[in-house]
Amino acid sequence: MAENFKDCSVSDCSGMDSGVSDCSAPECLLDCVSDDVPDCVPHCSVLDSVMSDLGVPACSVSDSSVPDYSVSDSNVPACSVSDSSVPDCSVSDSSVPDCSVSDSSVPDYSVSDSNVPACSVSDSSVPPCSVSDSSIPACSVSDSSVPDCSVSDSSVPDCSVLVSDLPPCSVPCKLRSDELEALCRMEMLHCQELGVNKANVNEWEVEFLCDYKRTKGEEFYLVKWKGFPHSVNSWEPKRNLKCPKLMKVFHQDLDLILKLQKKRTLPKQLDKDVSSFMVQKAKLRQSLQQWEAHLNQTRNHPGRILVSNEVDLEGPPKNFTYINNYKVGPGIVLDEMAVGCECKNCVEEPVNGCCPGASLHRMAYNNKGQVRIRPGKPIYECNSRCSCGIDCPNRVVQKGIQFDFCIFKTENGRGWGVRTMQHINKNTFVMEYVGEIITTDEAEKRGHFYDRQGSTYLFDLDYVDDVYTVDAAHFGNISHFVNHSCNPNLQVFNVFVDNIDERLPRIALFSTRGIRAGEELTFDYKMQIDPMDTESTKMDSSFSLAGLSSSPKKRLRVECRCGSDSCRKYLF
Ligand SMILES: [Zn+2]
Ligand SMILES: [Zn+2]
Ligand SMILES: [Zn+2]
Ligand SMILES: [Zn+2]
Repeated sequence: MAENFKDCSVSDCSGMDSGVSDCSAPECLLDCVSDDVPDCVPHCSVLDSVMSDLGVPACSVSDSSVPDYSVSDSNVPACSVSDSSVPDCSVSDSSVPDCSVSDSSVPDYSVSDSNVPACSVSDSSVPPCSVSDSSIPACSVSDSSVPDCSVSDSSVPDCSVLVSDLPPCSVPCKLRSDELEALCRMEMLHCQELGVNKANVNEWEVEFLCDYKRTKGEEFYLVKWKGFPHSVNSWEPKRNLKCPKLMKVFHQDLDLILKLQKKRTLPKQLDKDVSSFMVQKAKLRQSLQQWEAHLNQTRNHPGRILVSNEVDLEGPPKNFTYINNYKVGPGIVLDEMAVGCECKNCVEEPVNGCCPGASLHRMAYNNKGQVRIRPGKPIYECNSRCSCGIDCPNRVVQKGIQFDFCIFKTENGRGWGVRTMQHINKNTFVMEYVGEIITTDEAEKRGHFYDRQGSTYLFDLDYVDDVYTVDAAHFGNISHFVNHSCNPNLQVFNVFVDNIDERLPRIALFSTRGIRAGEELTFDYKMQIDPMDTESTKMDSSFSLAGLSSSPKKRLRVECRCGSDSCRKYLF
């Protein structure tokens, strides 16, 4: 959690300048560290000379972003074109009149990749780098390297490309911004983009602890300094370190690994594999903290999201995007509700049954917002056309998740799970199941693929008709992480708010009983609803392995590990 960064200043460090962090330093790096940084990393212009001094590759022009074209040797000093990119043409020097790229038209950047043709790069996207012409490989297109040449000049349009005509190509910097920051600090340079300035360039703040030892009765920790490379990690006596939170998680992680190795006491010195685990764990913690911050920036509901993995080294899920509402696929239209109610008090004095009445159904909630109808019956909430306000007790699901939840790694191989951080009363709205809405045909196709991965994120919307499916595999909210149980504490209801198309209900999960703070949330992926309720028979198989539902013979058996007494042993 981001608070960890707070009380981690160091004073009186041996060998350090008296840099005392004021802990108000912005966590400027976090946004830039991830792998999906766009092509040009914000960049410190003064760093280039430093990087070349240190032998760090500065910027590279990626091959794929540069269009193919061929150029002749004599005219173009600054590019190299590989044979493969000039397959079928004969280009002799004299036959390519328009290749006029002169030295002066090639701006100063560093092209370290040897097989990159010349390209136009706008100055603004490239930090000025200084590499002399001599370091740029010469052009290597000779007649002899292009043997099968039976194409006339006129059919080789690409040979007359001026540098200025080429689309700009991007120049990704090979360094991440935290590495750039480390360089800045090592060289005592200031860089606004990286948040390194005169005031904090010499500030030494503990980022995390990497190792531990005891000598002559004194305890020491190997400190990774925030914004500095690992090469300057230093051993600091415990008495100098003022980072109780970081120390606590360090010992938590250390206990975990020592327990795995069946060691009972804290050794005087950690083995190599233990200390390397500690570094990996610290980095995992950082990536989970970043993910947690991202989730909380993305959510639009009051309930906060925590993330915790105290079990292994798995980081945030790849290929998962947090969404708050259904993501409607192309060709699927949600019909807007045309009318609203005109009640003074929708629950106590409903006019003509309020909104549920308009669809010939009962009011679903009591005045505390608890659901009081049987599962399988629909919930019609008040909508944007109703005269009541947001405090109407018939508005529950539309207000979003109200409780704080923790996405945690389960200890018994059930992947991630979700637990509530707060007590939840019986019959209370907990969360909506959201994802991409796709047609059931599309779901069949995707289902075959998902089945092979053993994942089950397809929820058939079969309240009236089996036309649409919610796919939460890659787009979803917290419900994506809720596990199955044969004895669940959550129950599914179909909800209509602004959309009246009965084929597209919203799926809401309500508690079936009081749930203690800290308890894992679960629902039954293969829910069976009391067949006495005729209306609900449609809901008996909402969660299916979509690709196989029509071909029961091929159905995979998925083992259940929910651990409840009433476990059916198999999910499907
Ligand atoms: Zn009403
Ligand atoms: Zn209302
Ligand atoms: Zn209403
Ligand atoms: Zn089970």
